[in-house]
Amino acid sequence: MRKYVIMGVQGSGKGTQSAMLAADLDLVHISVGDILRWNVQHHTKLGAHVRRTMAAGELVGDDLVEGIVRDRLTQHDWNYGFIIDGFPRNERQAEFFLESYDIDGVIHLDLPDSEVRRRVMARRLCSGCGVDYNLLASSPEVPGKCDVCGGELVTREDDTTEEALAVRLREYHQKTNPVLDIFRRKEYVVTVDARPEPEQVQQEIRTRLGLPPYRPASQDHTARQAAG
Ligand code: AMP
Repeated sequence: MRKYVIMGVQGSGKGTQSAMLAADLDLVHISVGDILRWNVQHHTKLGAHVRRTMAAGELVGDDLVEGIVRDRLTQHDWNYGFIIDGFPRNERQAEFFLESYDIDGVIHLDLPDSEVRRRVMARRLCSGCGVDYNLLASSPEVPGKCDVCGGELVTREDDTTEEALAVRLREYHQKTNPVLDIFRRKEYVVTVDARPEPEQVQQEIRTRLGLPPYRPASQDHTARQAAG
């Protein structure tokens, strides 16, 4: 049974790294942000309650979020463990978590603010079909136009401006540094440079946590072909 927390600023690749880790270690990936977004999209009572807060980029109340985490973790579908992403986000949530669950490690994806700015500012969304683009990784064939439907590419609502991002970054550091300190005192934290390519970051996480090396799915396929 392996239980991990993954922390990192917006754009640091938490979702990608959690998914890679969860896939072949059979961990359940729990994203508090995803659970909240699901509720907003499905117009639940909870969704109606958190919609505005989320749209403003502010944190949802601690009681509510702790309730979500507790409920999610009482569903015992995590025989091999879990990786939780987006929680805890402040000291109180960290204390709640440590009182309720023992954890094996905290993965801290470290990304300098300048790189966050570069990544977030390069995000685009097609106003026609909703496909996501990152201009750093893959530019569309025709600048400003969607490869799929030809629609206009726009910035995402939550990426907004340099100023808004600066506020979010400051808030993030203010709230999460104390959380990292709490976890560091318990010697749980491995800090990994989030700047390299995703596979390299994943490899580093595994080395630091003493886990089996990462084997991309395509290698599995090649190995199966060679064996068969
Ligand atoms: P995320 O996808 O993790 O960036 O979360 C999206 C939004 O959900 C955040 O901007 C918050 O409004 C809310 N949220 C997610 N996790 C938490 C948390 N641990 N505490 C409070 N609010 C949260």
